Amino acid sequence: MADVIVVGAGISGLAFAWKAGQAGKQVLVLERDRRVGGCLHSERRPDGYWFEMGAHTVYNSYGAFLDIAVGGGVAGKIVQRGPARASFGLLRDGTYRWLTPPKVLLQLSWLEAAVHFPAGIFRKKEGETVYSYYSRLLGRGNYDRVISPFFAAVPSQKADGFPLEGAGSLFKKRPRREEFVRSFGFDGGLQLVADAAARSKGVTVETGVEVRRVARTAGGFAVTTADGRTLEAPLVAVAAPPDAAAAMLEQDFHELATGIRRVGTVRVDSMGVVLPRAECWMPECAFLVPVDDLFFSCVTRDPFPDPRMRAFAFHFRDGTSREQRLKRMSEVLRVPVERLGTPVERRTTLPSPALGHADIVAELDRCLAGGKLAVTGNYFAGLAIEDCVLRSNEEWKRVAG
Ligand SMILES: Cc1cc2nc3c(=O)[nH]c(=O)nc-3n(C[C@H](O)[C@H](O)[C@H](O)COP(=O)(O)OP(=O)(O)OC[C@H]3O[C@@H](n4cnc5c(N)ncnc54)[C@H](O)[C@@H]3O)c2cc1C
Repeated sequence: MADVIVVGAGISGLAFAWKAGQAGKQVLVLERDRRVGGCLHSERRPDGYWFEMGAHTVYNSYGAFLDIAVGGGVAGKIVQRGPARASFGLLRDGTYRWLTPPKVLLQLSWLEAAVHFPAGIFRKKEGETVYSYYSRLLGRGNYDRVISPFFAAVPSQKADGFPLEGAGSLFKKRPRREEFVRSFGFDGGLQLVADAAARSKGVTVETGVEVRRVARTAGGFAVTTADGRTLEAPLVAVAAPPDAAAAMLEQDFHELATGIRRVGTVRVDSMGVVLPRAECWMPECAFLVPVDDLFFSCVTRDPFPDPRMRAFAFHFRDGTSREQRLKRMSEVLRVPVERLGTPVERRTTLPSPALGHADIVAELDRCLAGGKLAVTGNYFAGLAIEDCVLRSNEEWKRVAG
């Protein structure tokens, strides 16, 4: 019998497993997919070429994530993002503009910004959404035309209603670890860190195992899987996306499940392709952001250039059909659909935190207080990888204490 069962092998679950394993526990991680990593999804081809289908960038302010990379022995694979990191495309009304950060500012209407900025700069950030704050700071027109699409590219959804600060917010100030470069990836992809945690001390991962229910027992918890097994452990961590977490907790932790269901979610359908460099028309860039389109962003591998190939991962809005996605990719990349080959596809459920998210998190923590059930994920502190790892670390501290 394992000391700890973790449900979900995304970075939240693996960070929890890492902590438990390092503390000398025997940890069993159950993952529904055939691979570990969740949103840390580095697609690797037999010829060694890789690209990111999910998260793509980490920063030297991700100290807790870096602890796993260092402890897991993969920090030597850190690669600095190349010059393309500072170039991006804005696609509006069929026209592509290739920008660097200073040129983004030139897209703003300075007259509108000048009218709003003096009053906006003194506004308190507390209780504001991304939209309410930035539209008052720079003007609604500027926000809608320039700011909103860039913010939407970060969480692959409209970010207008996200809280500006605190739980659920997109950007947080954190101390930087100056011994690492400011923003980076890993040679082989971010999934390398997930892989390292999955094979770390005390941790065993079973993939292809869907958990249906987490129940209380006299000595701890019983976890029921879709293949009909019941596994017991004194300590369980649920690290699945909110919809899946609520479903498995519904029967025995009804109040908690109800609280989790209050977190809004969106579905993101991603499609990625690799093309020979000679067939790509797009200037090298980190990403392309469209205004009012079927997709929120197209993330490239250009910050880690390869002499032969380029890769493009499109992150589409909920509700688009596969045909629509292929057609749009073919239009943007200017290659016939047949040349796209068999794109890599993934579907992700992401939280959509709104104002008041901190109250939901406080309510969930109240339900969890005093028990040995841990719940972690990107719907607590925030979506960023570092937010996930920090939440897992806190949960481990709480239940292990
Ligand atoms: C396209 C995209 C780009 C991003 N880019 C960045 C970035 O550059 N930097 C950054 O910091 N963050 C980024 N993020 C956000 C970040 O990657 C995620 O928020 C984070 O990785 C989520 O980790 P998680 O473990 O909480 O959830 P997930 O990664 O979703 O993992 C949850 C796991 O639970 C499993 N699961 C679900 N149901 C069950 C079940 N019933 N039984 C067993 N297992 C189950 C799932 O299969 C999955 O593996 C990005 C996200 C996306 C989608």
